[in-house]
Amino acid sequence: MTKYIFITGGVVSSLGKGITAASIGRLLIDRGLNVRMLKMDPYLNVDPGTMSPYEHGEVYVTDDGAETDLDLGHYERFTGQPTSKKSNFTAGRIYWDVLRKERKGEYLGNTLQMIPHITDEIKSRVRSLAEPGVDIVVAEIGGTVGDIEGLTFLEAIRQIGLEDGRENVMYIHMTYVPFIKAAGEVKTKPSQQSVAKLREIGIAPDALICRSEVSLAEDVRKKLSLFCNVPLHAVLEEQDVKHTIYEVPLVLSEQGLDEIIMVHFRMARPPAKMAPWRKLVDAVVHPEGVVKIGVVGKYSELQDAYKSLYEAIHHGGIAHRHQVEIVRIAAEDIESGSALETIRSVHGILVPGGFGKRGTEGKIKAIQIAREEGIPFFGICLGLQCAVIEFARNVLGLASANSTEIEPGTPNPVVCLMEEQETVVDLGATMRLGAWPCRIKRGSVAYRTYGVEEVSERHRHRYEVNNSYRAQLEEKGLVLSGLSPDGHLVEMVELPDHPWFLAVQFHPELKSQPLQPHPLFKAFVGAAVALKSKPAICQ
Ligand code: GLN
Repeated sequence: MTKYIFITGGVVSSLGKGITAASIGRLLIDRGLNVRMLKMDPYLNVDPGTMSPYEHGEVYVTDDGAETDLDLGHYERFTGQPTSKKSNFTAGRIYWDVLRKERKGEYLGNTLQMIPHITDEIKSRVRSLAEPGVDIVVAEIGGTVGDIEGLTFLEAIRQIGLEDGRENVMYIHMTYVPFIKAAGEVKTKPSQQSVAKLREIGIAPDALICRSEVSLAEDVRKKLSLFCNVPLHAVLEEQDVKHTIYEVPLVLSEQGLDEIIMVHFRMARPPAKMAPWRKLVDAVVHPEGVVKIGVVGKYSELQDAYKSLYEAIHHGGIAHRHQVEIVRIAAEDIESGSALETIRSVHGILVPGGFGKRGTEGKIKAIQIAREEGIPFFGICLGLQCAVIEFARNVLGLASANSTEIEPGTPNPVVCLMEEQETVVDLGATMRLGAWPCRIKRGSVAYRTYGVEEVSERHRHRYEVNNSYRAQLEEKGLVLSGLSPDGHLVEMVELPDHPWFLAVQFHPELKSQPLQPHPLFKAFVGAAVALKSKPAICQ
């Protein structure tokens, strides 16, 4: 029988529940268990696909083409297992499905209610992860206990505890224990109140994970144990980690969390050794050098908008035992000229994916600098499209070259809409999404980097390189090193006479993992390390 661990959050949002859930997944996998991860989001959007990066951060795309919450990225990076459409759903999706069924008459005229109809729908989606052979489903509920929209989710997980027996269901509550500087004390009251809120609904947590800036003294843990009705050994602390989020599984394991889970489920498995994981953390903590990568984006101020990207860059650094200092450069500051010095001070330039016109001229300028000055360049999705525009303008001499997304009436649409996208009216889930195969040209940098002729990478875009410009681009030296298997779509471009200049239409950052850095990120950061190590030439 599949067991369930439900992770809730209290007091404040942004507690790092996703990283904690992912860390628990990692520990259980190291215990030899078959684990599935799930994120439930109580907001009303059907999925995060159409939400602004300001609201929601990155949209994480799965192999099967779902546009999901960025926590799924943590799950994949920490557990090494792919997630899928089933791994994330929102309240909006639940209501949508229930109402669609109601319109079809599937409820036989019954009055629809939050309980049982909405809660049943939630439970059936949770239970769909418990396929044969799955030992534990680790399910995180987004938001904070006390949010109105989260109530049906809490009710649903309470019911699962009732139906399956408390020995098969574990509730872990994450909370925040603030340190009040003026009083010189940590305060437990907010945690007591958030647990009281949970108990009102009928959920008594089995373990408490307390986020805190300082270490919690024994008497504080005792107080939390007493007031929250959680055994003392199951009151754990999760202090802000010093070097990397990849320390979190080790921090939790040191306090016995995986053992507490095993005891709760009456399971006996050898302890998690975490040897490769410890090595990975060691590589981050003791780097041999520092390398600077400039990321030229539209949302340079937003940490979450490029979550997987930043992680993948760090993985590339880990592969070379280098710490990567990510220099976030606002594309508009390149347009205005104020960031030109900064961009020339980095060892590699990355232009990530994006939508819309804002900042594109700055990205194109950044790519020109990288191409002309021999700075390693990596373009991703919009980054590839901008690289093609830059090449068309400055090498082919087509000064007006552009993408029809940026300038619909351009006389030289080197990037344009695919035919099947022309008729799209709905915005949600209508892009080219998910994993698609890509054939790699033998002898190319891409081929040397991947070491294989065909790869599968995830996509999220509408626009494509315009095939009518392919011959001209190739003639002037742009190598189309990756194509869709039917040869119809350009997936990778590169420049052979450059230290490292490669761009891809897909999102390799979504598949990079700390234990298995993505080959392209590894190669790109490697080229940046080589540039940094190059002896300066006397002028
Ligand atoms: N806006 C571009 C497109 O839709 C690029 C998308 C992206 O970078 N993810 O094709």
